[in-house]
Amino acid sequence: INTMYTLAENNHKSLIDNLKNRGIIDDDEVYDTMLQVDRGKYIKENPYVDTPVYISHGVTISSPHMHALSLKRLMNVLKPGSRAIDVGSGSGYLTVCMAIRTNVLENKNSFVIGLERVKDVVNFSIENIKRDKPELLHIDNFKIIHKNIYQVNEQEKEELGLFDAIHVGASASELPEILIDLLAENGKLIIPLEEGYTQVLYEITKKNGKIIKDRLFDVCFVTLKKN
Ligand code: SAH
Repeated sequence: INTMYTLAENNHKSLIDNLKNRGIIDDDEVYDTMLQVDRGKYIKENPYVDTPVYISHGVTISSPHMHALSLKRLMNVLKPGSRAIDVGSGSGYLTVCMAIRTNVLENKNSFVIGLERVKDVVNFSIENIKRDKPELLHIDNFKIIHKNIYQVNEQEKEELGLFDAIHVGASASELPEILIDLLAENGKLIIPLEEGYTQVLYEITKKNGKIIKDRLFDVCFVTLKKN
């Protein structure tokens, strides 16, 4: 069969259905979550095309297929009551998906936080969330914070607590120690790591205090900046 498909859709549902038809979304929970977060509210230019789009300050919103694949890996640690952090939250798209999936609005045990290094990008994401899910901006268990992950100090680390789900939307040369510290027992961390000229997405889990690393597939993200 010649499986023809078009990459450019003109509305959010078509984009998500297209990802499903291509087999990229093969999980009902990922489908339901992404359907509730309209990419058109997070980026103006070509929101319904399966490609990263430039925001500003060298930053891009990741492609829809990348959001889908990362979310899928995190689904078993993203539940009502889970604690999740999106490092390099950018547009806020994935952070809001985490909020939907953990039901932060109704479940006060759920805690979802986006960490973003560039102040203008933080403001951009807050505008996006205002457009899409303004109610998230009025609760204590959802936050977008202007912070470089490498500059989280001991006290801030204590305040953040431990996370069941950690997503990193930028690639690091080495696994940052801070992320291991923030990972809860049985928690899961998704992070792109540089390997030579390429990047590989890793899934890292903590089991009985031990770190297990799974190499997933090659990816292409912007860099996780040291300062
Ligand atoms: N998932 C996001 C990805 C945005 S690109 C989205 O789809 O919109 C990655 C983001 O990581 C950028 O916004 C960049 O500013 C941010 N970033 C880079 N280094 C960082 C660091 N050390 N700490 C926090 N955020 C960082």
